[in-house]
Amino acid sequence: MDRIVIDGATLIPCDDDGQVLENAVVGVEGDRITFVRDGEPHWEGARHIDGSGCILIPGLINAHTHVAMTVMRGSADDLSLMDWLSDKVWPMEMAMSDEDRYWASKLAMLEMLKSGITCFLDMSLGTEGVAKACLETGLRARICEALLETQDPDRKRLDAAVEQLASWKARAHPLVDFDLGPHALYTCTRPYMDRMMEAARDLDARIQIHVAETTVELDECRRKYGMTPVEVLEEWGVLHQPTTAAHCIHLNERDREIFAKCGVTAVHNPSSNMKLAAGIMGAEALLAAGVTVALGTDSSASNNNLSILGEMRRASLLQKAGDGDATSFGAGKALFAATRGGAAAVGRSDELGQIREGYLADLTLIRADGLHSWPPADPISHLTYALRADDVDTVIVGGRVLLHRGEFTEIDSQEVMARCREIATHIRV
Ligand SMILES: [Zn+2]
Repeated sequence: MDRIVIDGATLIPCDDDGQVLENAVVGVEGDRITFVRDGEPHWEGARHIDGSGCILIPGLINAHTHVAMTVMRGSADDLSLMDWLSDKVWPMEMAMSDEDRYWASKLAMLEMLKSGITCFLDMSLGTEGVAKACLETGLRARICEALLETQDPDRKRLDAAVEQLASWKARAHPLVDFDLGPHALYTCTRPYMDRMMEAARDLDARIQIHVAETTVELDECRRKYGMTPVEVLEEWGVLHQPTTAAHCIHLNERDREIFAKCGVTAVHNPSSNMKLAAGIMGAEALLAAGVTVALGTDSSASNNNLSILGEMRRASLLQKAGDGDATSFGAGKALFAATRGGAAAVGRSDELGQIREGYLADLTLIRADGLHSWPPADPISHLTYALRADDVDTVIVGGRVLLHRGEFTEIDSQEVMARCREIATHIRV
């Protein structure tokens, strides 16, 4: 098995001790972290990576995105959520072939790798292309087919998604796994959701869903069901499956209690929420209620980048502005959400999100010796407030070095960019 040894970096393991370690050496063998110790970097037969001038953290996890929408970047801006969806996003999505989705997904994955992301949760239409791109680029992912009943009157897409999930589960691939993805409460009726939850229980599946993103959704739900979206989702049994819920902006105290009781991970998407004027997630209130918070970029059509470092900064700044409290959602909470929160969102807190012996070797090395991050100070502050996606130096996923000194080691990005330029032109509305 291949061995890697990394030394010279400031190490933030994100473990329960909350320590920052100087002079630590991290050893990787195969796809696991073998040791974290002080001392000599020499290890028989190991590839040496010099981390001098860098911060070493667990790979960043993007807990909510739609990778196939990356070709819509710059083509759907400055619109309300409903106009954005119905006039731009859905028509463009419908114009895309499976091949288009494959190339668009690949572009997203290259951008994520370059910005230090090692793992992501995705909801897309036509997900085989997403899985194929994932296997080729080497990122780790939980993928789900976006299921909207309006686009699936005969439930063929739902049945196909269940079949696809079962076959990927049987395959037990180390990098790629599938979830079930009811798009949102407002795009699925009770019978449709019941059928999905029956399959979810049979297959022991995780759920990805958009929840309480807008006041329109909240008001409509109250009118239709006399309850909040969270109360309905609990009553329908959705939240009884392990669930990762995106947005979760318009929640009340009872909703937060339900999330805590059901162990839901709430994904904060600050850029998308600001751009679509959806509102401000109460990340501090969720944490106080005992809910795990993760971070997501949402898609390039509502962000327009896929950088979790960027979301850490914006999550923190937005919470302070929203709460009128400069102590809200500080740097440490942002980093925790981007690593351990993300690990909870993928249901793998026991082997992802920390740099610990026996954990998966998903690691991100970020240069912290640029003008914009000088002088050296609290590295967690620098990560949240000063460092940028293009500071990322080296990215390792499952022991494979996919980016080194800012360059892809195995992938040609030029062909991906050329294909995506063509796709963007032919789908534009
Ligand atoms: Zn979304």
